Amino acid sequence: EKFKDGLTKTRDSFSGRVNDLVARYRKVDEDFFEELEEILIQADVGFETVMELIEELKMEVKRQNIQDPAEVQSVISEKLVEIYQGGEDETSLLNIQAEGLTVLLFVGVNGVGKTTTIGKLAHKFKVEGKKVVLAAGDTFRAGAIEQLEVWGERVGVDVIKQGAGSDPAAVMFDAVQAAKSRNADILICDTAGRLQNKVNLMKELEKVKRVIEREVPNAPHEVLLVLDATTGQNALIQAKTFKEATNVSGIVLTKLDGTAKGGIVLAIRNELGIPVKFVGLGEKMDDLQEFDAEQYVYGLFA
Ligand code: GDP
Repeated sequence: EKFKDGLTKTRDSFSGRVNDLVARYRKVDEDFFEELEEILIQADVGFETVMELIEELKMEVKRQNIQDPAEVQSVISEKLVEIYQGGEDETSLLNIQAEGLTVLLFVGVNGVGKTTTIGKLAHKFKVEGKKVVLAAGDTFRAGAIEQLEVWGERVGVDVIKQGAGSDPAAVMFDAVQAAKSRNADILICDTAGRLQNKVNLMKELEKVKRVIEREVPNAPHEVLLVLDATTGQNALIQAKTFKEATNVSGIVLTKLDGTAKGGIVLAIRNELGIPVKFVGLGEKMDDLQEFDAEQYVYGLFA
């Protein structure tokens, strides 16, 4: 239900336009595909992904000898899911250790919703009965530490911090020790999000990761990149930059409730090969949902 509500803007715009298209055409022809292409581009599905989809659709329409535009609709859904999943049986589940400490490292540019997502996820784990500790690794942005503390209080989990301007790697070291001594299940680490200086960002992330790797076997278990869906194709560019800086294992796409261009989910998965693991559908504590491609795509036409 939440998922459906959160997608209202994208659904209304996308499915509304596809329905209109289907109603206007008598047969599936070149013009039909051209208009469909335009609708997909405007939904931020991404150029490469749209081209691939249209190619596949044309082949399928030919193979099944489809004439009626109404019949294309279900093929669109099928192909979108196929493209999203990239032939793999993918799940949105996080790599959570059955025993011992799991470390999740969050990366992303300022303002995308990183702190909010960490708070929401901490809440989710807490509800599941897990013990969570947060690490205030963004020591650069003014107010970042305090903001994480507000979430820590709201959710009821400990936040490990040092002063503003301190070394994020030192914060991580402290946080890992604290998480271990408190027998925590999950340590969620915030990091600074300035992209202006890519070399520094890379160095900082590398250093933070090295500390975590050294202190916890096989950690970090996930490196989650937070992207703002309302920034559209810009989110794709950010993802490419972060992918060069560190090995991102999953994406959290926030503010999907605030855009009609939810097609960006498909572009990210298809063009970067990184799965979207969660989507943010609002500002409240429980507005975070595991991403399910089928549910998402079929939700677009619901
Ligand atoms: P950070 O700088 O990346 O840590 O970003 P914040 O967590 O401070 O979020 C920036 C703004 O986006 C805040 O006003 C959040 O309430 C808002 N926000 C975060 N996630 C979502 C979401 O999924 N939907 C909506 N509508 N707003 C969100």
